Amino acid sequence: MIESKPFFFDYDLIPLQESLSQWGEPDFRVNQLWQGMYRGLKVDAAEISNLPTSLRQKMIEHYDFSHLTPEVTQKSTDGSTRKILFRLPDDHAVETVLMRYKKRNTLCISTQSGCAMGCVFCATGQMGFQRNLSSGEIVEQVVFFARELKESGQRITNVVFMGMGEPLHNYEQTMSALDRLNQKTGMGLGARRFTISTVGLIPEILHFADEHRQSNLAISLHAADDELRNSILPINKKYPLNDLIDACHEYNRKTKRRITFEWALIQDVNDSVEQAGKLSRLIRGLLCHVNVIPLNPTKGYSGQATTKERARRFQTILERNGIPCTIRVRRGIDIQAGCGQLAAG
Ligand code: SAH
Ligand code: SF4
Repeated sequence: MIESKPFFFDYDLIPLQESLSQWGEPDFRVNQLWQGMYRGLKVDAAEISNLPTSLRQKMIEHYDFSHLTPEVTQKSTDGSTRKILFRLPDDHAVETVLMRYKKRNTLCISTQSGCAMGCVFCATGQMGFQRNLSSGEIVEQVVFFARELKESGQRITNVVFMGMGEPLHNYEQTMSALDRLNQKTGMGLGARRFTISTVGLIPEILHFADEHRQSNLAISLHAADDELRNSILPINKKYPLNDLIDACHEYNRKTKRRITFEWALIQDVNDSVEQAGKLSRLIRGLLCHVNVIPLNPTKGYSGQATTKERARRFQTILERNGIPCTIRVRRGIDIQAGCGQLAAG
C-alpha cells in the first residue's frame, strides 16, 4: 500500500495551527493558509502567494490537497444541472450535482460512496454500501464547485446533503464537514444554507436536535403506514413510523425549526387518496412541510412516476388538511442527476 499523506480538507483550523506552530510558524500563518484555501479557493498551498515559499513547500510535502479527481462531467440539455463523477484515491467513486436555478446555485453533495439503507427505488441504495467519505472528501466537493463558480463571479448559495449516501449514517464526518464549511474565517456558508436529508435514523435525529445547529432537516418519508414503508424503505423495520414521528416532535420542540418531509410519488404505490389522508393524520401538529416529487426512474426498480393529475390531487388533500405541500420539478433526469439516480461504478 502507498503511504498516504494527511488530507488538508480533513483538518480544522486548530489542529493545523498546532502543526504549524510545531514547525515554528507564527500564529497568523495558519489564517493566511486557511483563507487562501477557503476564501481564495486556491488549488493548493503552493498558490498562496502571501505565504513564505519555504512554508508552501513544506505544506505540499506534508499534506495532500485533493482526494477528488473529476472523471466524468455531464450537463443536462436545459443547462440547469451539472453532475461530476469523482474518483477517490482508493478507486471508489462519488457524484456531486450542481443545480442552477434563478439566483440559486444549489450543490447536492454525497456523504458516502454507495449506501447501506437499501431503499428499493434509489440507485445509490441499489449499488450497496462502498464506504464512508471523510469530512475532507465531503468538504472538497463544495470547494471544487466553488472554485468553478468563482470564475464566473458566482458562489454556492445552498448545500443539500442529498447526494449519494445516508448523511446520518456517517454522522461525525458529515457534521464536521458542515461545521468547517460554516466557519466564518473560511468559506463562511451560513448554517441555514445547509439541508441534511435522512431516511429516518432516530438516534441521530435526536442527537442533531441536541446540537442546535441552525441547519435544515429533511426526512424521506415516502409512506404513511408501516406496511408500505417497510416494503420500500427497509430501515423502517428498525425505526418504525410512530417512533420516527415522535422524534420529529422532539426535534420541533428542541429546535423550533420546520422539518421538510420528502415524498417520491410512485404510481399506484404511494400516490393514493388513502396515503394522502394517512399522511395528513400522521404529521398533524408538526411544524413541517411536504415536498413531493414524481419518482425518478432507476434501473433496479420497476415502479413508475405518478401523473401530474395525481400529484396535484395528493397536494390538494394535504393542503386541505392544513399541511403546506410543494410539487418539486424534476431536474437533470436526462443525465441521471435527479434525486435517487446517483450511482457510480
Ligand atoms: N439518504 C438520504 C439522502 C440522499 S437521497 C435520504 O434518503 O434522505 C435524497 C432524496 O432522494 C431522498 O429524499 C430520497 O428518498 C430520494 N429518492 C431516492 N430515490 C429516488 C427516486 N428514484 N426518485 C425520486 N426521489 C428519490
Ligand atoms: Fe440511501 Fe437515501 Fe438512497 Fe435510501 S434514498 S438508499 S437512504 S441514499
